[in-house]
Amino acid sequence: MARRVLSVASEAVPLIKTGGLADVAGALPGALASHGVTMTTLLPGFPAVMLGVKRPKVLHRYKSLLGEPARLVAGKLGAHPLIVLDAPGLFARDGGPYSDPAGQDWEDNWRRFAAFGRAAADLVGGLVEGLEFDLVHAHDWQAGMALAYLRFAPVANSAPKPSVMTIHNMAFQGYFPEQIFGELGLPASAWSIEGVESYGGVGFLKAGMEAASLITTVSPTYAREIRQGEFGMGLDGLVRSRGTRVRGILNGIDTAEWNPVGDPYLARNYSHRTLAARAANKRALEAEFGLEPGEGPLFVVVSRLTWQKGMDVLVEVLDHLVRVGGRLALLGSGDEATVEGLKAGAARHPGRIGLKIGYDEGLSHRLQAGGDAILVPSRFEPCGLTQLYSLAYGCVPVVARTGGLADTVIDANLAALDAGTTTGVQFNGVTHAELADAIDRTLQLWRSPAAWRQLQRNGMKADFSWVQSGKAYAELYRELTGAMG
Ligand code: ADP
Repeated sequence: MARRVLSVASEAVPLIKTGGLADVAGALPGALASHGVTMTTLLPGFPAVMLGVKRPKVLHRYKSLLGEPARLVAGKLGAHPLIVLDAPGLFARDGGPYSDPAGQDWEDNWRRFAAFGRAAADLVGGLVEGLEFDLVHAHDWQAGMALAYLRFAPVANSAPKPSVMTIHNMAFQGYFPEQIFGELGLPASAWSIEGVESYGGVGFLKAGMEAASLITTVSPTYAREIRQGEFGMGLDGLVRSRGTRVRGILNGIDTAEWNPVGDPYLARNYSHRTLAARAANKRALEAEFGLEPGEGPLFVVVSRLTWQKGMDVLVEVLDHLVRVGGRLALLGSGDEATVEGLKAGAARHPGRIGLKIGYDEGLSHRLQAGGDAILVPSRFEPCGLTQLYSLAYGCVPVVARTGGLADTVIDANLAALDAGTTTGVQFNGVTHAELADAIDRTLQLWRSPAAWRQLQRNGMKADFSWVQSGKAYAELYRELTGAMG
């Protein structure tokens, strides 16, 4: 039987993106269609989203939604149904979706995303005639209140619906002061430790997790890790209490956009059968970064330059990387101290370390196609897409053993090397010594060209498309709506 799912997300490609959530929310409807799931996506009416809605059809008008006039309008997300919460007083602003042009969180983020959640709960409760849903799937804190409203303040006489809360990054929890509670339109009973209350304030992600039939995160290892304090960031107790109702499903990658065979950004296209052609991309990359050609491996980095990504430790290891014969081409933007450290390293090693500070989509493809190995020393990584692109491009991933990195890269230990299944190098703990050791191990593998080529081919043949992930979500929905047949 067909299932109708409302996916509640604050971003989705191709309309609006600040991070991996947008890729997942944008890919899910297509990945689920072949499983008999019709997914409608609900997005906030940010300017970029409103521009993408051609000839909006009004589904509902609110005189006041948490104090603001608003409309629900229908559109398309690619080929799939879209509903947008058009509330100019909340969303029609310059700046980012969550922060003002100066980078500060909008002060009324609680109202903006409570309104978004209220609208989602209304839709699931049957607000629009002829529009019915069997299940609601909320993503991240911005959608968490949808599940709280469904639980504590549903549309009168509506039937309860199963729900999924997906956590894309536990570091962002949507935590607001106690004073806002009175404005949310929730009954007093919602103010409890099993409700929306969190450490004395209101926690939007926490509220969603409490209310959800099932919680998912974006890799099996991260689903285990968030049971511990360090990764759970205050919500580890709640995660533990949900037991087997917390699952991990890996994200897929968009294989139309990330495929070295037809990638328009590359100097030379190639496949796992024509790996030698990669050399042209390496030469082009060396030229683009002003690096001397050399015998040793060309390491690359494409990353936000933040503590999560371990970029401070990368700075510490630059001299070692060069000393043992490596070179580095890095693309990234982020923390000022890290940028300064990288610049100092590049100045010490001209021709061996090249930097591009900024965001550049085309260059990120060329780095994957021309680099020999990519360094991903993340302290935590819910799923990670960078290493999945690397695998597809034959750029050997050297990764910290955490979250999705642990789940997607097969370490070059003796057993895996013997079995010929290795796809990269993993290391434990993001420290100078561990990262330096991983670089040394990578160089050892590099010195055996046949083993190296096998590593590259194994990665390129691995399937991290949306096919597997779509199937896993469809099974989850089936489990939750099972009574429907
Ligand atoms: P996160 O979402 O935590 O930053 P992921 O690995 O899941 O980490 O996704 C990062 C995505 O952003 C990848 O597609 C990566 O190629 C891209 N990316 C990161 N930094 C840059 C940059 N400076 N320029 C271009 N793309 C970047």
